[in-house]
Amino acid sequence: MPPGGAPPPPPAVPSVACPTCRAPNAPGARFCQQCGGSLIATACTQCGTAVPHGAKFCAQCGKATDA
Ligand SMILES: [Zn+2]
Ligand SMILES: [Zn+2]
Repeated sequence: MPPGGAPPPPPAVPSVACPTCRAPNAPGARFCQQCGGSLIATACTQCGTAVPHGAKFCAQCGKATDA
């Protein structure tokens, strides 16, 4: 490996992006530390697919969410 090559990439910090404000939050966090929004995805009542909080419709079956 030649000296002075490509700089090493920054260490990957595992994080969950808030669906509302895109702020990174610790994995497993239930609420955004930046805006207080829920980070928990809800399950579609029709097909059970995880629907991100704030989504209007299920991406799998198109059923409208209650949110
Ligand atoms: Zn947020
Ligand atoms: Zn669905």
